[in-house]
Amino acid sequence: MSGHKLEVALLEVTKRCNLHCLICGSDAKKQASSGELTIEEWLDVVSRLKKLGLKLAVLSGGEPTLKSGLEKLIAHLGNLSLEYSIISNGLLFPRRLLAIAKEIKPYVIGLSIDGQPENHDRLRGQGSFTGLQKTISLLQENDIPVSVNTTVHKNNFRDLPWILEFICQNKIIAWQIQLAMPFGRMKESAHLVLDQQEFARLCVFIYKARKLFPGIRIVAADDFAWASKGLIRDCHWLGCSAGLSSIAIGARGEVWGCLSLNGCQSEGNIRQKPIEDIWNDPNLFAYNRQFNERNLNLSCRQCQEKEVCRGGCKAQSYSMTGRFNCSPFCFLRTVKSEAQGGKTDE
Ligand code: SF4
Ligand code: SF4
Repeated sequence: MSGHKLEVALLEVTKRCNLHCLICGSDAKKQASSGELTIEEWLDVVSRLKKLGLKLAVLSGGEPTLKSGLEKLIAHLGNLSLEYSIISNGLLFPRRLLAIAKEIKPYVIGLSIDGQPENHDRLRGQGSFTGLQKTISLLQENDIPVSVNTTVHKNNFRDLPWILEFICQNKIIAWQIQLAMPFGRMKESAHLVLDQQEFARLCVFIYKARKLFPGIRIVAADDFAWASKGLIRDCHWLGCSAGLSSIAIGARGEVWGCLSLNGCQSEGNIRQKPIEDIWNDPNLFAYNRQFNERNLNLSCRQCQEKEVCRGGCKAQSYSMTGRFNCSPFCFLRTVKSEAQGGKTDE
């Protein structure tokens, strides 16, 4: 037995998508990939995950709202008393899903916003911003909680103040800001990943935005690594949860600790091995379960938060360095480096 209690599962219910976004972590396509799990298989795996302790299922993709039968999965999650959220591009929100979301309220529906309308459309596809606005209004009119997510890179970095204003005007409750990383389709545009100076400015932007707008839950994603409570997130960061309290299941049954780790070897496939056996195998998810300080780089090894942080976001680290415990971007390291006049240890 692994001794780890599962809490969150990210479910890539399809790889199909109605947009073609620059930063797509799944490299989603117009058509579903061959051999995707059926809704019946998803119902089964969710029941099994519940027995492992699951509390929250995050329905992701591709574009999850395109998965036929998703309403059955949501009804099943409701019957199991599990919370759920949906991560969507917001282009459309089908009526069949609106009906079930009104009946079984999601924890939140997170919609992607990449920038001002022209930039958003350029990065995602023509007409996508208009679709997003309509979806926000539709969900809000029906009293369904909506948040937005922005994946930041060199081509939308300057749009952040505009997005903040949009969020205020549209009474959106929360904004998650994450970094574009070179996995999925973004591998083709790795040159757009922020540099360290831009990352430092982004940290300051988030810190100031949180101070100025305490009514909006503005949070930096996991890929900013460790930060003290309140600075760029509401809580102290507890480290990467992949394989410790979270799991991800790909559209064809592959298992990872996090969907953003889909560029690495999977830990198995639920069609070949029961999910319980994968989760309970102490030898899997080794980057977190068998963490060894020797795997850290020099600056992380000297850090007072290394035991909790274990070298930051595993997906960021793997996609940028080929190793799991060496995140190039770190809020704490950046703050210290700025205090020393911009010098880093490595
Ligand atoms: S220096 Fe390394 S261990 Fe310390 S907070 Fe940053 S990423 Fe985490
Ligand atoms: S790999 Fe990164 S995004 Fe995924 S759970 Fe770990 S810290 Fe979070």
